[in-house]
Amino acid sequence: MTIVLAFLALSDLNGYGIADLPREDPAVANVNALGKHSPPRAETSDPTVSSEVGNTSKIEHDSPADIRTVIVQPRDNLALIFQREGLSAKELQSMLESDQLAKRLKHIFPGQKLIFERGEDGALTRLEYSPTPLQSLVFTRHGSSFDVEQVAHPPEIEIKVIRGLIDHSLFVASQRIGLDDETTMRLAQIFQWDIDFVLDIRKGDEFALVVEELYLRGDFIGYGNILAAKFVNQSDSYLAFRYVDREGATGYFNPNGESMKKAFLRAPLEFTRISSNFNMKRIHPLWNRTMPHRGIDYVAPVGTPVLAAGTGQVRVAGHTNANGNYVVIGHGSEFETKYLHLSKFGPHTKRGQRVNQGDVIGYVGSTGWATGPHLHYEFLVNGKHRNPRTVPLPKSNPINKHELKRFRTQMRPTLALLENRKSPNLLTAATD
Ligand SMILES: [Zn+2]
Repeated sequence: MTIVLAFLALSDLNGYGIADLPREDPAVANVNALGKHSPPRAETSDPTVSSEVGNTSKIEHDSPADIRTVIVQPRDNLALIFQREGLSAKELQSMLESDQLAKRLKHIFPGQKLIFERGEDGALTRLEYSPTPLQSLVFTRHGSSFDVEQVAHPPEIEIKVIRGLIDHSLFVASQRIGLDDETTMRLAQIFQWDIDFVLDIRKGDEFALVVEELYLRGDFIGYGNILAAKFVNQSDSYLAFRYVDREGATGYFNPNGESMKKAFLRAPLEFTRISSNFNMKRIHPLWNRTMPHRGIDYVAPVGTPVLAAGTGQVRVAGHTNANGNYVVIGHGSEFETKYLHLSKFGPHTKRGQRVNQGDVIGYVGSTGWATGPHLHYEFLVNGKHRNPRTVPLPKSNPINKHELKRFRTQMRPTLALLENRKSPNLLTAATD
């Protein structure tokens, strides 16, 4: 049995992750890459931000003397900090009441930075709060209250090529070469229509990505967009290029300009830890004899969300002794998918309900004839069981042909970076 351990939370199956939102200038990384907050972009040159403080000391005096930088300490809150700074509760109150945005001051975390500026009379004139390195809230005194402005600090971007070789799992390989789990997840999401990351990953699989590295004042702060990626899975090679079309829509496309997004997901579940493999002649323990096994079993923890593999309509959401709780989805007249042994149904899983690809239709369980928690997944074409991992699937929408030339022009340099390869063995060895 193949054991695949992965730590994915495919929460955004239809998207490409938070760093891949459309943006006007492809040369500038999206500021959302590192945080869930999404402030509007505002350019600024802010002299106070460049005064850095170490984490070891709580307070440092900047020059000029009326600017002080405070690093939030464990168990700190704003009232305590204001008190320490000799600022009145009244001043704090008027700041908190200044704007909706000020509410975010109530959720400060240790390690975050506050910069206090005072006038000659000692009154607070300006406060800058940086929830993440990429954004600040700036409060400026305006009479008796404060104006609030969100400021983005655009990072410097370096384009890097990162290569990995899989030994145990994608995530282990990624961690070894310094790729964080969030970026690894986005990499997997690019290929989720071609590669089953639960069952198909093998020792010897390789990947490479051309990715933006984000720096702020010289410090590496994380990864931005994945501009291109390659995945070699059991000697099948897949290439994907990020493309923002003239309308601002972002997607990943293969070198022919066909979308990576396809009609069916390879693995119809959100997985954290999953193991199994596909075997048409497996012994079904409850039957105690070989029976044709007409589907794929994904061994997964009870409660793992099961996703509609494709867009369609729920034909059955019911129960039988053998299937337990099960769902059948029709995808047009040709395709049908079945999901068995569910612990429970999704909140909107009812006969006749329209579902989109990636919608949660139920949760992994062991109802019916199941020895343990798993999803039994079947894929039918014109009423016949087929292996969804090998059956040819409908082609997806290609890039608009008016964009093709532009796509190819943009693809060329990233392709060159991807293909200018060194041995992944050497690279992994070098990073160990
Ligand atoms: Zn099964």
